[in-house]
Amino acid sequence: MSTASQSQSGAPAPGQLTFVAPRRAKPARHLADLTMAERKAAVTELGEKAFRADQLSRHYFEKLNGDPALMTDLPATAREKFATALFPKLLTSVRELTTDRGTTRKTLWRLFDGALVESVLMRYPDRTTICVSSQAGCGMNCPFCATGQAGLTRNMSTAEIVEQVVAGARALAAGEVPGGPGRVSNVVFMGMGEPLANYKAVIGAVRRLVEPAPEGLGISARGVTVSTVGLVPAIGKLAEEGLPVTLALSLHAPDDELRDTLVPINTRWKVAEVLDAAWKYAARTKRRVSIEYALIKDVNDQEWRADLLGKLVRNKLVHVNLIPLNPTPGSKWTASRPEDERAFVRRLEFHGVPVTVRDTRGREIDGACGQLAAAE
Ligand code: SAH
Repeated sequence: MSTASQSQSGAPAPGQLTFVAPRRAKPARHLADLTMAERKAAVTELGEKAFRADQLSRHYFEKLNGDPALMTDLPATAREKFATALFPKLLTSVRELTTDRGTTRKTLWRLFDGALVESVLMRYPDRTTICVSSQAGCGMNCPFCATGQAGLTRNMSTAEIVEQVVAGARALAAGEVPGGPGRVSNVVFMGMGEPLANYKAVIGAVRRLVEPAPEGLGISARGVTVSTVGLVPAIGKLAEEGLPVTLALSLHAPDDELRDTLVPINTRWKVAEVLDAAWKYAARTKRRVSIEYALIKDVNDQEWRADLLGKLVRNKLVHVNLIPLNPTPGSKWTASRPEDERAFVRRLEFHGVPVTVRDTRGREIDGACGQLAAAE
């Protein structure tokens, strides 16, 4: 196992895992990186009164205004200082693609150093979900995932993650998404990257998302889902954060032999270990764990595997999410036959396991699961 650095141009060898992000210049500090206490300290360091931290926070997290020039209740001199010190431009929209009559929209973002990441906003009648990236690239190297094939470029900062949500919230509030002005109700860490491999920044972002204003955006923790390949120690840590977010575990195979190849982290933490961590997470947080399972034709979609999966997860606080595989360019794999998918569902239902087949919104714009490759 190597911790060698990968770049967007250098593809990892099959099965190679990259845990340590390459050393690179860090994005500038932003208000959204900071706790309220840190914001107060930053503001006083700039020679301004501490209560300005509260004002800035309300502008940003309540009014979704990230440009001090528009914060007219602040003295002009202070506005300039705050702009430079606390509101650097972190994300630049490079391309925007919409589908589903405008209710699904994918944004390609350029970060300060040229790294590219994507986020996808999906509006449904009853909720609006934004799928965010937590790393530029990914080091987990799952062979069916477009992001995994490109390797890890770098970790994103807390504010770079939060800014994706704020940008989506802003578009919704401004009525840019069909359905009238709205709010972000759900955030899923299912874009580019392995969130638990960028633990500190991701936890900071989750806190900013769920804390009520002026600290944060005030999104319900139940609406936040952190999806992982199964970094067992980090799952244990997450359970102790006091943040009842939903844990999604990308299982994709119920047996170690196959999972070793589909989700290479399995060579380090086996199916039994990662499921054990998931059940402990459920027990600690009282939250139903979501098991993600991409159905790949003739690879992991056999009835005996459904049966084995059913036996492993029955009677647990769990929900199984089957995802028809989105074939990535050049992939030898494709989605399961409809009859095999149905049989898989029936087998799980036989074991009394709650199961749904995920919709595949955004496919036409490469905005669906695992297709985020930031190709430019
Ligand atoms: N690294 C995290 C989060 C990002 S991927 C994780 O792996 O969980 C979000 C989900 O999309 C994961 O369940 C992932 O396995 C799945 N996925 C990746 N590529 C896919 C593809 N080509 N088709 C369907 N689902 C895919």
